[in-house]
Amino acid sequence: MPDILVLVDHDGGTPKKISNQILTAARHHGGGEVHAAVLGEGAGAAAERLGAYGVSKAFVWDSPDADAYATEPRTAALLAALQQSGAPILLYPADPFISDVVARAAIRAGAGVVTDASDLALDGTTMVATKAIFGGEMASRCHVKGDRPQFIGVKANAFTAEETGGAPPEVVALDVTLDERSKRARVVDVVEQGGGGRPEMTEAAIIVAGGRGLGDAEGFRLIEQLADTLGAAVGASRAATDAGWYPHQHQIGQTGKTVAPQLYIGAGISGAIQHRAGMQTSQTIVAINKDAEAPIFSIADFGVVGDLHKVIPPLVEEIAKRK
Ligand SMILES: Cc1cc2nc3c(=O)[nH]c(=O)nc-3n(C[C@H](O)[C@H](O)[C@H](O)COP(=O)(O)OP(=O)(O)OC[C@H]3O[C@@H](n4cnc5c(N)ncnc54)[C@H](O)[C@@H]3O)c2cc1C
Repeated sequence: MPDILVLVDHDGGTPKKISNQILTAARHHGGGEVHAAVLGEGAGAAAERLGAYGVSKAFVWDSPDADAYATEPRTAALLAALQQSGAPILLYPADPFISDVVARAAIRAGAGVVTDASDLALDGTTMVATKAIFGGEMASRCHVKGDRPQFIGVKANAFTAEETGGAPPEVVALDVTLDERSKRARVVDVVEQGGGGRPEMTEAAIIVAGGRGLGDAEGFRLIEQLADTLGAAVGASRAATDAGWYPHQHQIGQTGKTVAPQLYIGAGISGAIQHRAGMQTSQTIVAINKDAEAPIFSIADFGVVGDLHKVIPPLVEEIAKRK
């Protein structure tokens, strides 16, 4: 049974939900040991927590250089982790920045890459990844052919994170030497994207999303009010982001983010197949739409047929009262 190396994403010492999900998938769908590559400042602290998700060995590069330059230093560190781990399979979070690092590492390691997996199955020593295509209407199974490293990107919320309660892993500090080439693109400034202090969509337990039915960008103030009352993240349909009413990184769907919160509330969103592809595995779906025939109602657990401008303000008031 092959060992699996998971590239763990973390917030300066705390592994992200997506990493715990992928580690759980590696445990269930692997068979050998689960190793972790943990890079960047706080990596040491993050690694300590990974035994709880079944990691036996963590390859750590806890260095400010990881964040001082663009992707090259992390690429070098990932290659070092792959070499020391010896695992033939790498699972990584399907996130744009991480994908940039992994793509560079794949070229240098001669690996094959499958992106955006929503399920995994081991066939001998080959990891077979399931990908949703045509807006989630069909599934395609893909694997890396030949005797080469297999790199597989896993979508957020494709798996549920389950703790094993294991002891902290053996930590191996990576010795990464950076050449001048790795330092050509230096990070000179970091600007936090305005999220109003709200949680990140793929990590949030509750998401309130808005669509074209909001009428204009100002309509998102209503969505934000409801989100803030619930401590939720804000999402949007593509119609809303394409119209410039809300930033693109909040788009949910086939060409946006995949989310699976405990509670998804969609207002003024019709529920087109491409939107549903990104949210239909949410645990509880609430739809607010003035059209009783809107497709979103076919997957909603609770529906309110009505004008969102009349439904949301009293809802915000009532929730605030009960808090
Ligand atoms: C290749 C491809 C990829 C795509 N990827 C995505 C994607 O990732 N994510 C995504 O979201 N879309 C995606 N789309 C677009 C998708 O097909 C839809 O066009 C889009 O989701 C529609 O957004 P919407 O529901 O906000 O708008 P509409 O479909 O216009 O729906 C607006 C809804 O608001 C309701 N409404 C109007 N006024 C009110 C009111 N006052 N109160 C209550 N309800 C009201 C209407 O009844 C209607 O149901 C993609 C399309 C293609 C072709």
